[in-house]
Amino acid sequence: MISLHNGEFLEIDIRNLMIPSERVAHVQIGNNLEHALLVLTKSGYTAIPVLDQHYKLHGLISTPIIMDSILGLERIEFEMLEKRRVEEVMNRSVQRVKVTASIKTCLKLLVNHPFLCVDTEDGFFEGILPRSLVLSQLNKALNKNNKM
Ligand code: AMP
Repeated sequence: MISLHNGEFLEIDIRNLMIPSERVAHVQIGNNLEHALLVLTKSGYTAIPVLDQHYKLHGLISTPIIMDSILGLERIEFEMLEKRRVEEVMNRSVQRVKVTASIKTCLKLLVNHPFLCVDTEDGFFEGILPRSLVLSQLNKALNKNNKM
């Protein structure tokens, strides 16, 4: 049976695990789709946050969303990349948690999301919590327990 007797994993503060905002690849409200596609391609991430100038989170932009938005009836309208802005097409439904959220709550949400956006109590973007980081921590805790 898998068990975490000492509760070490469950006591993790997500602030110590998350990627802080300054290391998160993102775009800003007002950026065009060409810029967003450039950041997505260069960073290699599938989806990245869209922030405003005050570091408030407004949505997520991804390569599939961008490609879908420039798909015409007979051709891909590449010229639209320069004309459209990220806020016109971004996904506004973002899975977000407060910095005070428990690791257990985050783990549950991460079953259906590759990463969570983390907000301060006053709603400013603090960083992201990728599924891979949480799973790696859980894996470490399980291996540690099994050696005991
Ligand atoms: P990972 O678990 O590292 O594969 O990350 C899962 C997803 O989280 C990636 O596909 C990105 O959408 C997002 N992500 C992870 N790290 C970053 C980062 N430094 N900046 C922006 N997005 C990230």
